[in-house]
Amino acid sequence: MRRREQGDADRVLTLCTPLGKIDVLAKGARKLRSRKAGHIELFTHSSFVLSRVPNYWDIISQAETVEPHATLRDDLLRGAYARYAVELLDRFFTSGEGEQALFDLLNHTLTWLCEDDDLDLAIRFYEQHLLGLAGFRPELRACVGEHADRDRRVLLRPHEPTEEENRPYGFDPERGGALCRDCYTRRNSRHKIASLSPNGLWFLQECQRGPYTRLRAQQTLLSLHEEVERVMQHYITHHLEQRSSASAFLKRLKRMNKAQNQRSL
Ligand SMILES: [Zn+2]
Repeated sequence: MRRREQGDADRVLTLCTPLGKIDVLAKGARKLRSRKAGHIELFTHSSFVLSRVPNYWDIISQAETVEPHATLRDDLLRGAYARYAVELLDRFFTSGEGEQALFDLLNHTLTWLCEDDDLDLAIRFYEQHLLGLAGFRPELRACVGEHADRDRRVLLRPHEPTEEENRPYGFDPERGGALCRDCYTRRNSRHKIASLSPNGLWFLQECQRGPYTRLRAQQTLLSLHEEVERVMQHYITHHLEQRSSASAFLKRLKRMNKAQNQRSL
């Protein structure tokens, strides 16, 4: 996920493993002809043999590539999505935290980011499930606002036909989830609450429900990306208490690509 230089020839690598997030030492990794170099590249899925050293980093004694995910290092845009995925994991989990499910989620997401066309879908799905594993799963099925009858859950069903089709729902990062239409209309002037269209809310619910292969088959999601990205960035920034730098870079890159595409039309 990340690396930093250590001494003249070594590197400390941050790995996401089935046992959690850990730092390990790669001795001699900065030497030009290090045998390990290819196996410890960023985004690479590798198999490691580690030597335990008391009161020190574990040291990599053997490394072998399982899946290089090379596209993520060769393709600027795909790489930017992958950097964002890794940064999010790094910020929501401290050293020693994590489990098999987190490892699987990152590993699958890196594969989707190599192969799929709709990178935004892959990343929105990833966000929902990463937040869930970190204990920050947004509540999207029931209103998080205040209702007179506190014991009754006000369920949110944005895809049921209604006469108020165009009235938006809300999203309140402080309360940790979505607001029903009435709570959103009554929101007073709390500026942190974002509006969320019925389709946008439905999209986020679908991401939580999964599985990813089912979502991938739904073409209607394409038009919702911008809105849903804005809402999720709002939520994530609220919890991290600062913006993700990889997400700012990704945003700039997407804007540049969009401008370029428009010029070439
Ligand atoms: Zn409500």
